[in-house]
Amino acid sequence: MANHLYDALFGVHRGNRKPFLILPDGTEITYDAFLRQAARFAHALAACGVQTGDRVAVQVDKCPEMIALFAACAQSGAVFLPLNTAYTPAEVSYFVENSEAKLFVCAPEKADDLAPVALACGARLETLAHGRGSLTDLAATQPETFETVARGPDDLAGFLYTSGTTGRSKGAMLTQDNLLSNARTLVDVWRFSSDDVLLHALPIFHTHGLFVATNVILLAGGSMIFLPKLDVDQLIDWMPKATTLMGVPTFYTRLLDDARFTGDLAAHMRLFISGSAPLLAATHEAFEARTGHRILERYGMTETNMNTSNPYDGNRRAGTVGQALPGVEVKVCDPETGQALPVGEIGVVQVRGPNVFKGYWRMPEKTAEELRADGFFITGDLGRLDADGYLTIVGRNKDLIISGGYNIYPKEIELLLDAAPGVMESAVIGAPHPDFGESVVAVLVPEAGATPDLAAIAAALDGQLARFKQPRRMVVVDALPRNTMGKVQKNVLRETYKAIFTQA
Ligand code: ATP
Ligand code: MG
Repeated sequence: MANHLYDALFGVHRGNRKPFLILPDGTEITYDAFLRQAARFAHALAACGVQTGDRVAVQVDKCPEMIALFAACAQSGAVFLPLNTAYTPAEVSYFVENSEAKLFVCAPEKADDLAPVALACGARLETLAHGRGSLTDLAATQPETFETVARGPDDLAGFLYTSGTTGRSKGAMLTQDNLLSNARTLVDVWRFSSDDVLLHALPIFHTHGLFVATNVILLAGGSMIFLPKLDVDQLIDWMPKATTLMGVPTFYTRLLDDARFTGDLAAHMRLFISGSAPLLAATHEAFEARTGHRILERYGMTETNMNTSNPYDGNRRAGTVGQALPGVEVKVCDPETGQALPVGEIGVVQVRGPNVFKGYWRMPEKTAEELRADGFFITGDLGRLDADGYLTIVGRNKDLIISGGYNIYPKEIELLLDAAPGVMESAVIGAPHPDFGESVVAVLVPEAGATPDLAAIAAALDGQLARFKQPRRMVVVDALPRNTMGKVQKNVLRETYKAIFTQA
């Protein structure tokens, strides 16, 4: 079995004339054509002075060339570092400087704005877009074969910044073995084969769309319908040609909102997978009622790729993220002592296995804090295991509210609020309180056209929750602050409402 990321994911497909990427206009790019282009990009990287181990920071719109650049980095031993396209030049500047990228590749339209960033960070600037850009032009003049540079299993193969949901994004260093072992496990447990056609509408600057979705298809030798972003019209148009969909929960709520998404349209599909954020039980049930399919929910993160998955065969338990993947150990520990807790108790989720990253880039203290000497990574998520090893994520350690000495898990309150009349969704946070240290604030988003009756909601909660867990303030807002992966930014809410109990 090939242990080089390039050989295992890409090299094995040399000469393969089946489509790897299918674009929205129907164009098909075969594996063979893709690999020839990737080799040209590998030469282009060398022409730009990129050497083994150098980081190549890439902030471009999703396009086949971006995956070719990922392959080119794998082949030439450089480290592909995709950046969220929503980041502003000031944010990008932090990432390019922090990663000490040798080359920074941006969209042609952004070159003027970003040239000073590249200059200040000492990175060379090139541009890339589908069929355009200086790097594409440079690659066009290069040979179609490239000699793969040798790399070991422990060498850096992927570098991704975390989503920044709980604070400043951290650079996670992933090895060849991290990426390969996880992709192999996922192909196996999710039964991917060369017959699979994945509907791919995720961003490829995030672990979900890149190291999960793309790597799984490459390893299985399947095809991807490569859509620029989540667009329900496109999902519906292309679903008849697909076998599988990987999405964040929003994919599923948007599909359910559309009457054209019928059980017939989904009948031939093999698998629907959800992750990156919690899938509400209501979505799970509505999806099954409409299509007969049970969505398979799984749990992962930038630092570890995938940790757990609901089973392919067997019980996909709504509200849980499934069981530890083969080769991965998951335990729930006391946040203070680090000791494993008994079944059913809530604690911090720790993970160990070949999927666990090498550490945070240029953050030795943070790495030492979160990556224990025994190999367990302290995820920062709070969870509970049941007797069958199914894990339920109940929130983030940082979101835990401690009020008058009691621990309060926001999710317990959010589940009740989400089900209250007129409420579409909610976020529960702690705000500083003069008597209790912290107290509970509920931020509610109403259903379209509805005005939630806050007094009635408070009265209903009174019968369902202990007094110390009941929100002392409820505020109604139009929308919750979210990052580009659709995750609610509670740190932003905590900042907004930090004086709610102390203001006159
Ligand atoms: P940062 O670490 O910078 O604060 P982040 O943790 O959101 O950002 P990612 O690595 O993109 O960055 O996200 C991983 C997190 O997403 C997990 O730690 C977990 O909190 C959440 N997550 C992923 N899958 C699920 C799921 N199925 N259910 C609930 N939460 C999930
Ligand atoms: Mg995180």
